[in-house]
Amino acid sequence: MLKTDVLIIGGGLAGLSAAKALEGKKSHIVAERENRPGGLSATVTKGGFHFDYSGHLLHLRWPKTSRFILGALGGNCLRLKRDARVFAHRRWTPYPFQANLAGMPGKVKAECVSGFLKAYSAGGGPGDGTEPFSRWTSRVFGAGISRHFMVPYNAKLWRYPLARLTTEWCAPFVPMPRPEEVIEGAYGKRSEGLGYNTVFHYPRRGGIGALANALAMKSSGLRLGLEVESVNLKAGVAMVRHFGPVHFKRLINTSPLDSFVGMAQDAPAAVKRAAAALRHNTVYVLNLGVKGVKSDMHWGYFPGPEFAFYRAGLATNFSRELAPRGCASFYVEFSTAGEALDLASAETAALKGLKACGLLGPGARVVQKLWLKIPCAYVIYNKERAAALPVITAWLKARKAQSIGRYGGWKYSFMEESVKEGLEAADALL
Ligand SMILES: Cc1cc2nc3c(=O)[nH]c(=O)nc-3n(C[C@H](O)[C@H](O)[C@H](O)COP(=O)(O)OP(=O)(O)OC[C@H]3O[C@@H](n4cnc5c(N)ncnc54)[C@H](O)[C@@H]3O)c2cc1C
Repeated sequence: MLKTDVLIIGGGLAGLSAAKALEGKKSHIVAERENRPGGLSATVTKGGFHFDYSGHLLHLRWPKTSRFILGALGGNCLRLKRDARVFAHRRWTPYPFQANLAGMPGKVKAECVSGFLKAYSAGGGPGDGTEPFSRWTSRVFGAGISRHFMVPYNAKLWRYPLARLTTEWCAPFVPMPRPEEVIEGAYGKRSEGLGYNTVFHYPRRGGIGALANALAMKSSGLRLGLEVESVNLKAGVAMVRHFGPVHFKRLINTSPLDSFVGMAQDAPAAVKRAAAALRHNTVYVLNLGVKGVKSDMHWGYFPGPEFAFYRAGLATNFSRELAPRGCASFYVEFSTAGEALDLASAETAALKGLKACGLLGPGARVVQKLWLKIPCAYVIYNKERAAALPVITAWLKARKAQSIGRYGGWKYSFMEESVKEGLEAADALL
């Protein structure tokens, strides 16, 4: 019979960080169902290319986690200044759209600026997070910016009615410029310093997976290929596929909260009902290895309906070492509400779109491709989520279990936040 002080479900960044903090202090097992560590922050290698699950950039905000992450990477890290753009009305303008309207046609620019000023003078503050996105964006940004960017882009990303999507997630992710920044940005002053990701870090070698691999190498508790199939928090036992029971004193879950509650045998009916109300979208990432590409851009946003994808980036502009010499690599992101994507037509649409915006020139030739699927990508913020989380959290607390990370905590968060929560979860046990 296998016994441990702490069972950690999932060897992504949250689970690996918790394990690192427990190392040598408490016995622990990290059960990771895949045969590689890293979860969504892993890197897949194919034909000499290193492909991530879309752009995975390190946005470091907190001193302790920054030290932890940069320490794990050793010298294997680059610091880069963001070059992100928006492609709308058949032209590029720098990101964020709302503060860089200069690139837009005169009529669009006028509509956006006047709409913003009208909204601002009516008192467009950030709100309390409960407001529906569709109302929030016109109240904060006005009709023009909403119509030309916020609404079409977010509809494509979330694949959920914007009149039901709530806005708790917006504060760190949607830059909110002051009126003078909107006006200056519309008349030529580049406003690039806005938003959470103006400067980012990225491994020099090995893709973003280098971080998880570095943590995994020093983890004595990591067990790959172990899938937890059911848990009983009251009894302190988990059933692992092809293995059997693992007895634990404390549990840290990092797997998606809805499926975790689904496999918890002792979860009361009210908790099961709450978890069943949680929703998420699905993202498919088409990675392309290409010869003959010339662009310095990091990534672009595509609000227009003529593009089937919402975002695309040039990963080799994060690190040249992601591709063989002379090649570049792209990632192109498509979102669905959970339904399967028709990969063949999506690929055609990706190539057409990359050509239409000029990222793929006439001399470019695709030499490699890899589709990666993220079944649970962005959790949906709605009133059902707001009602469900307290019910689930209260039950977990009563059972002295923790559910952390982007999906364990059912939130829109960064890699650094998963690391932070992993370290804090371990601290709470020590
Ligand atoms: C499209 C997209 C782009 C992103 N870009 C960025 C970015 O640029 N910068 C950034 O900081 N963050 C980004 N993120 C967020 C980032 O991916 C996450 O914050 C981070 O990877 C979450 O780590 P985690 O450990 O919490 O979860 P995960 O990485 O999901 O790890 C959970 C692990 O649990 C395992 N697991 C699940 N169920 C079981 C089970 N039953 N038994 C055993 N193991 C199980 C999974 O295999 C997985 O390895 C992005 C996310 C998405 C979807």
